Amino acid sequence: MNAKISTCKLCLLDNVEIRDSHIIPKWAYKEVRGDSKDIVNHTKGVVRYSDKQLKELLLCSACEQKIGRRENYVKSISFNKKGECNAIKLLNFNIGQSNNSEQVAWTDASPLDKQSIAYFTASVIWRASISFKGKGQVSLGPYQEILRSYLNEEIIFPKEANLLIYFHDPYKEDPFYQIATLPVTSKLSSKNRYVYCHQFLCLGILYKFFLGKNIPSEFQELCFVHSSNSLVFWTSLDQDPTMDGIRETISGAEVRGRLAQGK
Ligand SMILES: [Zn+2]
Repeated sequence: MNAKISTCKLCLLDNVEIRDSHIIPKWAYKEVRGDSKDIVNHTKGVVRYSDKQLKELLLCSACEQKIGRRENYVKSISFNKKGECNAIKLLNFNIGQSNNSEQVAWTDASPLDKQSIAYFTASVIWRASISFKGKGQVSLGPYQEILRSYLNEEIIFPKEANLLIYFHDPYKEDPFYQIATLPVTSKLSSKNRYVYCHQFLCLGILYKFFLGKNIPSEFQELCFVHSSNSLVFWTSLDQDPTMDGIRETISGAEVRGRLAQGK
């Protein structure tokens, strides 16, 4: 195992053994791979078969465990490699409910462990923001330190953070559940004010995490964490702009290796 003695990026303890930490959870790679040998990987404008997992020396083992506890919960409600998802039954969702004119449905989120999901979301986005290898895609500005304090259990989920959760409604049988992406930051404008959205897709759940003082009130009312009647949304993901972005990225990429040979 790769390890060195340094400062943990999360708890800031000095002279501790630092682990090779995953940015996207290890289990996500396993479920994306499914029964095939390897994963179609997109990095820096190239798509190819690859088994490479994005890891970096970041955290001490106590902090790895803090994150791991929440990751295990999120795994239990995410889609698995067979396309099964415990949340469908848990949230009493009928597959195909989002097949309406708006292409979206919603269910009450209260059966879910919202705090674990919020922690997991913030942890993936924060890890991507401090990762050297994955840098450039996520920019948190002053919120990087606020999220670090939250993840280190010094403060509660920040007031200026807002989370929307979209589950994949699998009625179209597209294997969108077998995708995991690194987070990306986009700047949205609403009523002449800017708000930053950091989002990623992991095993059939799309996480949209907003940070800032100008989050539109309609998003605040729907926030998975802060709202008293919190909801999760369901969509086939087919129509979501996130999928358009992924398709665009893949179609513009260079195909190499065995994938290019059609294997
Ligand atoms: Zn630590």
